[in-house]
Amino acid sequence: MKFFSLNNHKHFSSFENAVLKGIAPDGGLYFPEKVERLKEGFLKNLNSLSKKEIGLEVIKSYVGDEIPISYLSEIVDKTLDFEFPVVPLEENICTLELFHGPTLAFKDVGARFMAGCLGYFIKKGNVGKVTVLVATSGDTGGAVANGFLGVEGINVVILYPRGKVSDFQERQLTTLGKNITALEIEGTFDHCQAMVKEAFRDEDLKQVKQLTSANSINVARWLPQMFYYFLGYRQVQQYEKKHVFSVPSGNFGNICAGLLAREMGLPIYHFIASTNSNKVVTRYLNTGRYEAAPGVTTLSNAMDVGDPSNFRRIQELFQNEFNTIKTNLSSYSFDDPATTNAMKEVYLNTGYILDPHGAVGYLGLKEFMKENEGFYGIFLETAHPVKFADTVEKAIGMTPEVPEEVQDILVKEKRKVPIRNYKELKEFLNEI
Ligand SMILES: *Cc1c(COP(=O)(O)O)cnc(C)c1O
Repeated sequence: MKFFSLNNHKHFSSFENAVLKGIAPDGGLYFPEKVERLKEGFLKNLNSLSKKEIGLEVIKSYVGDEIPISYLSEIVDKTLDFEFPVVPLEENICTLELFHGPTLAFKDVGARFMAGCLGYFIKKGNVGKVTVLVATSGDTGGAVANGFLGVEGINVVILYPRGKVSDFQERQLTTLGKNITALEIEGTFDHCQAMVKEAFRDEDLKQVKQLTSANSINVARWLPQMFYYFLGYRQVQQYEKKHVFSVPSGNFGNICAGLLAREMGLPIYHFIASTNSNKVVTRYLNTGRYEAAPGVTTLSNAMDVGDPSNFRRIQELFQNEFNTIKTNLSSYSFDDPATTNAMKEVYLNTGYILDPHGAVGYLGLKEFMKENEGFYGIFLETAHPVKFADTVEKAIGMTPEVPEEVQDILVKEKRKVPIRNYKELKEFLNEI
């Protein structure tokens, strides 16, 4: 399969190059040249297939022959090596929990899949040693670090702002060791990101280091997110109603993968993009005008994106037709008080603990169900509530428990390198 740049439909790339470069030279996002329909037999038999078989069938046309099928199958197997349970909450409403991976966030799947693919391309010998450089405001860094842990030929360097990530998140970044180094930056997330961008522009550095970013727009992080919708759908297909998925959205990669899954044949009737106060897309669907805005800080901070990159991919999927987009996608936005209120109400009514992102997803679904009949709704729970313990505590008056599988990070030693400016970053990168 070839991928083209959304800025130039005549610029094509292989899967390997798209994974390695992340973004086309003209700054465009990569997009698959065609979307293959799945065989009807596959969809009918979802229940009898393993997670690995489902994942492999869904992803293989995009990877083509660039990774041998037996190797790809192993990558998918490792990627999906945890549970994706559906939990019913109310009549016709359930949640699909995507937080059972090693870092308790749904980004684990994309990060692991990308690490597997990059690991293969390095092993094959086409690519030398690679340094993955990421700036994180919390969740991404942990998922990427964990996904790439121990992958031969790859060094991961994570920049995070000192004092601005939670203790739990800092532990996820700083306790892994091996090929992962955490750099504690004196500054904000924006400073971290600016330093990463400067490194990517730095010609001297590029002479000696092969840098890549494990950004969420990378096709190897975007495409495997389709797996969730297949794994979720097969657990609710017995409800003979129209299925609607509500996706808490920030950079819109996850929901765009859901729309692509539907394009491949998965019978999902409708999608809801649930947003926090960062509501460019919600506004676009109401007015037809897309106006990027600076990101604002909210309780669901992994969704604080003012100009979501993947929205361009959604437009491409629908041939840029506003009316088609509107028929397939609804969007609602909720502020912080509404979010905490939902966390409280759901806890009181059902005993279920939502994290702030899941709460936004829940609210979007409720709003849609108020206006539309005959649906069975699934909202995605994208992070474990323990990652946002303070917010949860304020909303429901108690702290969620840290799951046993991840308790070991609470006692491991934090290791980090303090960095004050770009010069120090460059020196560090030159040395590893
Ligand atoms: C990244 C993230 C999101 C947003 O996903 P997008 O694909 O960027 O829309 C939602 N919730 C959590 C917990 C996240 O980490």
